[in-house]
Amino acid sequence: MKKHLLVFAALCWGSAAVTGQSAVAQEVKITPLGSHDGELCPGDRALVFEDPNGTRILYDVGRTVAGPTDPRLGKIDIILVSHMHGDHAGNAHSKAPNAGTCESPDMSVSAMPNSNSVNIALAKKSKIVTGSEMPAFFAAKLAANGGDPKDSILTRFGGSVRVGGVTIATVHALHSNGLDPDYVGGELGKSMKAAGIAGDVGQATGYVLTFSNGLVVYLSGDTGITADQDRVVRGHYNAKLAVMNIGDNFTTGPKEAAYVINELVRPNAVIPSHVNEVGTKGGKVVPGSKTDTFVKAAKVAVHLPLSGKTMSFDNAGKCVAGC
Ligand SMILES: [Zn+2]
Repeated sequence: MKKHLLVFAALCWGSAAVTGQSAVAQEVKITPLGSHDGELCPGDRALVFEDPNGTRILYDVGRTVAGPTDPRLGKIDIILVSHMHGDHAGNAHSKAPNAGTCESPDMSVSAMPNSNSVNIALAKKSKIVTGSEMPAFFAAKLAANGGDPKDSILTRFGGSVRVGGVTIATVHALHSNGLDPDYVGGELGKSMKAAGIAGDVGQATGYVLTFSNGLVVYLSGDTGITADQDRVVRGHYNAKLAVMNIGDNFTTGPKEAAYVINELVRPNAVIPSHVNEVGTKGGKVVPGSKTDTFVKAAKVAVHLPLSGKTMSFDNAGKCVAGC
């Protein structure tokens, strides 16, 4: 009997080894679409995640993607919007990749009253997956522009949806989420603007994505420090890779973000985002920058999101290529 068990164990180990080999090809690819090739610039937010099954997800497109015709986009199946602020939903965008300088990118093309997110979704026939009260807003924008309102999909705190083989959940982000009255327009929009009041589309969010290879990724969105980063993002979802906003003032700064990563989420690797500064020159960290402070303070592998450079991650959040 023991001998049979040993043979069985050997067979299992053998198949695990084979699975391990095929897992090398089961990587999630992440490509930053920032304002300037090979750099980390102040307005950079957009990341494209590609599941091993081919599903492509655009996270927080912001202003650095030059609208739906940006040649870097390719196929986009799903668009994620953590919250409605202009630098995330995209109230404007660049004329073309590399327009302006890294210090001062040209983002002079208005995307109002739709947003860069909605314009790309319409052109690419993408699903927009959001939490909170944002799905109704996106459904109305899609419907008003000839799109299908059913392409706006809800995933509210505590639940999840599976789209294109990727499980998508939203998590709490400690931030605000006012809707610019210019999205509303008309007399109501004008009155709201005059009174300094934003529209209510519920709370800001972060995301937890579970890819088909098992990789779990936390996308912080704009947030402060929350207990959920420990109890929910790590405790329940067990995220192995994090994309963490470090820009300070509007979100966690580099030291606070390092605390979140080191003590709360505790992933195997982190991609800093939303740096709101020139983070790199020639692809190297600018000494004394917030990015530099974060890289030094984080106790896990830090991978800079250099625009256009694809990084590949295995199911444990380890970068296996492109870092
Ligand atoms: Zn914000």
